[in-house]
Amino acid sequence: MDVGHVAVRLYGDLADLAGAGRPEPHHEVPVVSPRSVKDVIESLGVPHTEVDLILVGGVSVAFEYRVVAGDRVSAYPPFASLDVATVSLVRPPPLPEPRFLLDVHLGALANRLRLLGLDAEYRNDADDAELAAAAGTDQRVLLTRDRGLLMRASVVHGQLLRSHDPDQQALEVVRRFELFDVLTPFSRCLRCGGLLAAVAKAEVIDQLEAGTARTYETFARCGHCAQVYWSGAHHDRLAAFVEQIRAAAR
Ligand SMILES: [Zn+2]
Repeated sequence: MDVGHVAVRLYGDLADLAGAGRPEPHHEVPVVSPRSVKDVIESLGVPHTEVDLILVGGVSVAFEYRVVAGDRVSAYPPFASLDVATVSLVRPPPLPEPRFLLDVHLGALANRLRLLGLDAEYRNDADDAELAAAAGTDQRVLLTRDRGLLMRASVVHGQLLRSHDPDQQALEVVRRFELFDVLTPFSRCLRCGGLLAAVAKAEVIDQLEAGTARTYETFARCGHCAQVYWSGAHHDRLAAFVEQIRAAAR
């Protein structure tokens, strides 16, 4: 039996995801039974969260569009320089505020996003089904390097991190969601993500080592877990990271 095909062209870095190590923009995908365009694109290894616009024969379509043999599909990633919000039928409505949920392998990234002042929820014992469900219920962007996790139907907002390096991953997130102007470094607890508030030295002095109590005058405390912070030995390294992210915006 002659099987029909659809021609798929992947633009930008979507081609890298389907290339098995080598970018491959053109694909011929067989259509045996009715398939959605979302399913066709994901069968190439591209999670739907990475696609910002789909055209079929030059016309914008939704993920549910049923492909037919002979269709010419073009899939585009988000382009910071191009606003397709009025055209795209696949971009989900924006979240009221940028909030993130990280998969279990991303503890180092959670630390960096919190340092930048972002709301980053992270637990090292959540399974994939819990993460996918929680991202939807809590209206958070699911961050992961696992494509299968992002392909779950319940995931609406997500980002596939390309880098293995947590500093670069933080930059990927800030870039994709255009967060350079909303960062509030040193405003959150690195341990739990709670908000910090200034606290008088006298209130926390019993929790401090003698050396710390002698050296520092300014303290902050987490409103959630009560961890106490000061501008100690790690501060310069952390400040350098913040500056590196800010420099990338320019
Ligand atoms: Zn805390």
